[in-house]
Amino acid sequence: MGAFKEKHLKKSDQIKPVTLAQLDEQSLYIFCWCNRCGHNAELPPAPLIDRLGPLFPVPELGVHMRCSHCSTQDVATRPAWPAYGGQIARHG
Ligand SMILES: [Zn+2]
Repeated sequence: MGAFKEKHLKKSDQIKPVTLAQLDEQSLYIFCWCNRCGHNAELPPAPLIDRLGPLFPVPELGVHMRCSHCSTQDVATRPAWPAYGGQIARHG
């Protein structure tokens, strides 16, 4: 049974990461999180589209980021979905 499950998990490489253009279309910002000091910020995608192109994958943006607080380049990035930004719907 275990082997069967692993086969299915290998499909994950077919999932396309969200691109800067997709964020811009939906008026979403990029949420950046510093892995060293925990500093976080939300950036608009437009200036990054100018720099890196509209098809640049959002999860790879961290490579080009630098924390404005501690200057490390160990920064994680993902779309700033409203559901993850403090407006999570509560159950009951
Ligand atoms: Zn930092």
